[in-house]
Amino acid sequence: MQNACVYAFFVVILQEFLSIFFKNMILPIYLYGQPVLRKPTEDITPETLDLQQLLADMWETLAVAEGCGLAAPQIGKAIRLFIVDGTELSEDYPECQDFKKVFINPEIIEESEDDTTFSEGCLSLPGISENVIRPASITIRYMDENFTEHTETYDGFAARIIQHEYDHLEGHVFTDRISPIRRQFVKTKLTNIAKGKVAARYRTKR
Ligand code: ZN
Repeated sequence: MQNACVYAFFVVILQEFLSIFFKNMILPIYLYGQPVLRKPTEDITPETLDLQQLLADMWETLAVAEGCGLAAPQIGKAIRLFIVDGTELSEDYPECQDFKKVFINPEIIEESEDDTTFSEGCLSLPGISENVIRPASITIRYMDENFTEHTETYDGFAARIIQHEYDHLEGHVFTDRISPIRRQFVKTKLTNIAKGKVAARYRTKR
C-alpha cells in the first residue's frame, strides 16, 4: 500500500511538471466527498466560459487518467457538460467505434424498458467497481462542441457510459444505484476516499 502511495505521488508530480510545459492543463479530478459532485449543474452558453480551452484540458485529463468519460463536476465545475471516449474499448464493444464526443446541456428524453447489468467504476471513486443495473438503451438530446443540437439513440456500452456521465450532472455517483447490501459493503471504502486516505494514479482533489 505504501509503495502504491509513493508511486501515485511521483506520477502526480510528473503530471504537474508536464502541465507546465504543455498548453493544456491536466486538471485535478475531484474525488467522492467533494461537494461539487452533489451540486445541481447549470446549462452553459457559448459565452459562459472559454469552452475550447476547457475541453482541451478535459480531453488531456481524461487521456492521462485512462478513463472513458469525464463530467464537468469531476473537475470542479457545476455545469452541464461531459465528454466520452470509448474508442479504446471498440474491439470488445463495436458500438464504441468512433465514440468520442462532447455532450453539452444534455437531456435523456427516452429510456428503454429493458435493463442491463454492467460493472462500473469511476475516476472520482478510485478502487471501487460494482455492478449497476441501467436501461439498455437511451435517447439523448444534446449539443456538440459547436452548439449544434443532436438527438441520438445509443445502446450497449455507449449507452452505459452516457448514463454514468449524465448521472454526474444530476448529482449522482454510481454507488447511489447499487443494492443496499452492496452499498453497505463499499461504505468504508467511500469513507476512506472522502477522508483522503485513497491514492489514485492521477491528479486528484480531495
Ligand atoms: Zn464517474
